[in-house]
Amino acid sequence: MTERIYATQAYERSMTANVIEVDDDQGKVLLDRTVFYPGGGGQPHDLGTLEAGEKRFDVVRVTQDADGVWHWIDGPLPDRGAEVVGELDWDRRYLLMRTHTAMHTLCGVIWERFRSPVTGGNMTPGEGRLDFEIPQWTPEDRPEVEAEFNRQLSMDYPIEVSFLDRADADMDPSLIRTKVSLLPASLSVVRVIDIVGLDRQADGGTHVASTGEVGTVRITKAESKGKGFRRIRFVLEGAAARG
Ligand SMILES: [Zn+2]
Repeated sequence: MTERIYATQAYERSMTANVIEVDDDQGKVLLDRTVFYPGGGGQPHDLGTLEAGEKRFDVVRVTQDADGVWHWIDGPLPDRGAEVVGELDWDRRYLLMRTHTAMHTLCGVIWERFRSPVTGGNMTPGEGRLDFEIPQWTPEDRPEVEAEFNRQLSMDYPIEVSFLDRADADMDPSLIRTKVSLLPASLSVVRVIDIVGLDRQADGGTHVASTGEVGTVRITKAESKGKGFRRIRFVLEGAAARG
């Protein structure tokens, strides 16, 4: 298995690791530890490089399976047993962290206003979309939701990561609306992302330390997807960035 540094230390952008498996057919290597996020929960996988001595390898894709986290390389692979230094494309990853935290913030805003759970979503660096069932939506909601979205971000809520036993997560009312019951039955520990005071969700992704780092957002679209479903798209604008 791979030690997932990103799961507890989202701001680590490099690591030293050992190659524990090489898959020549598919062009990928398994590492014993990594800062590379393999994708999931709407957040795309990371990009970056591995270096072994003078050799440099471009990581073009990251995936996970029962063995751990696989780093897909464009070109020749490092050797099994080699020590490598991994380095993220940090600008892209940090933008994804800000985008992901913005997604959860919008979930909190929509929940507070409509009591509507999220039904789907996706993101690219700097842009997000979320689907909700909001039959009562009216045109005035768009500017008001956008204003509330920015107001909540500016509150600079801290974001905490914790790990709950599955049984406790299944019984936590604040997690039920994010469908913790839909997680695989095999999952014995549930990772929880808590935007303290606003939104709490089972989640595997990487987030900034506080909502102030997201900066400001603009809702670009709030389109009907039929039968009361609403797809809200937003972009990140100004950055209150550090990182
Ligand atoms: Zn998430």
